[in-house]
Amino acid sequence: MDVNHLTTRAAIGSPVRALLELLEAWAFDAQDARARRQGWTVHRPAPLIRVYRNPRFDTMIPCEHCAGEGVTTRGACRTCLGSGRERP
Ligand SMILES: [Zn+2]
Repeated sequence: MDVNHLTTRAAIGSPVRALLELLEAWAFDAQDARARRQGWTVHRPAPLIRVYRNPRFDTMIPCEHCAGEGVTTRGACRTCLGSGRERP
């Protein structure tokens, strides 16, 4: 393993990481704050990627009419309006 190479990569990586964090803050801070105010969870699986989840979605069950697919042979499910979920 080349230690000098790792040191060089770390020095180059820090400014890029700092720029990436600034870009993320610019792009997502407002949306993250809004989601948290509404009680949603915010997950950051990778840089520049967010997954927002409303915990109320966990209280829903798969639509019985379309088996949770959101569509039927006639198009979007009219029971769940294409979401594939419904309240119990
Ligand atoms: Zn349905």
